[in-house]
Amino acid sequence: MTVRWETLDLHTAQPFGIARWTHSTYPRTFVTFEQGGLTGRGEAAPNAFYGETGATVEAVLPLLADALTDGWDWDGLHERLLARMPLGHPSVKCALEMAAAEWAARAAGVPVWRLLGLSPSPLPESSFTVSLGPLEDMRRQAREAAARGQGVLKVKLGTAQDEQIVEALREEAPDVALRVDANAAWTRPQAKRLLAVLAVARVELVEQPLAAGDLEGHAELRRLARVPLVADESLHHVSDVPALAEAFDGVNLKLAKLGGPLQALRALRLARAHRMQVMIGCMIESSLGIAAAAHLAGLCDWADLDGALLLADDPFTGLSWTAGRLERPAGTGWGVERR
Ligand SMILES: [Mg+2]
Repeated sequence: MTVRWETLDLHTAQPFGIARWTHSTYPRTFVTFEQGGLTGRGEAAPNAFYGETGATVEAVLPLLADALTDGWDWDGLHERLLARMPLGHPSVKCALEMAAAEWAARAAGVPVWRLLGLSPSPLPESSFTVSLGPLEDMRRQAREAAARGQGVLKVKLGTAQDEQIVEALREEAPDVALRVDANAAWTRPQAKRLLAVLAVARVELVEQPLAAGDLEGHAELRRLARVPLVADESLHHVSDVPALAEAFDGVNLKLAKLGGPLQALRALRLARAHRMQVMIGCMIESSLGIAAAAHLAGLCDWADLDGALLLADDPFTGLSWTAGRLERPAGTGWGVERR
């Protein structure tokens, strides 16, 4: 029984921007768990918003890896990780949980979604993200994506020209479903003003308009909004879900922020119990991390799983995409292979 890992710097084909930052290099740590001659794999995709970097992942992995001793006990792993480290480091917890779940699925000879007993419902079409940049460049990205047959576009707002961006994208791609993500950047008055613009542009949903802690502001906004509000930055852990049910219509589940695929599944079921809609999202991550999210995507209303499509050097292969349509991974485990 061993746990080993390596960190690779992955690169986006284009610098990728949101309101808080623009980057083109992303350190990602790949964990391999081996037991009885079989292996399971996981990916840590740290995000500074959740207090993680490539360096914290490298520092914390040796402290958590010994919680993973038996791949069959994948369901108990998270509790053992919390006993060692109650707070933070969700991407490390995710990588270990992914590795345990894949090991068990491979030992059973099935895909992970089969191991979990999930229904083989069709996957919702994934959005493709238009990266922030000069308006002309964003127009070009939207045009090209629509021409490729992409049916859902997402744009990250929180700029000084949000209104112009939404109008420009709607003009370039009149028939696509358009989603916006404010990444917690708007003030309450700004959000109220922009809701009207979003309604005119037939925006399908808006992610995280206000600051993560402003649940009261979101609840107030929700009473005015015709477009569904989806919590992303306000959701860090499964236990956050019930408190979000008043303030948001839906939640964005990302494996790397919730601590793994089983934690995302718990959050999903809790959200459904509170009659919320569900989006499955991702970080910039390889096809390994995206595959893990894709195993849950059939249970979700919306998918935002383009993280690996933005990479120039994805180290994994095996996911099948036709424009935004991602197929459920086949094969045992996560269903992707090292290139
Ligand atoms: Mg978001």
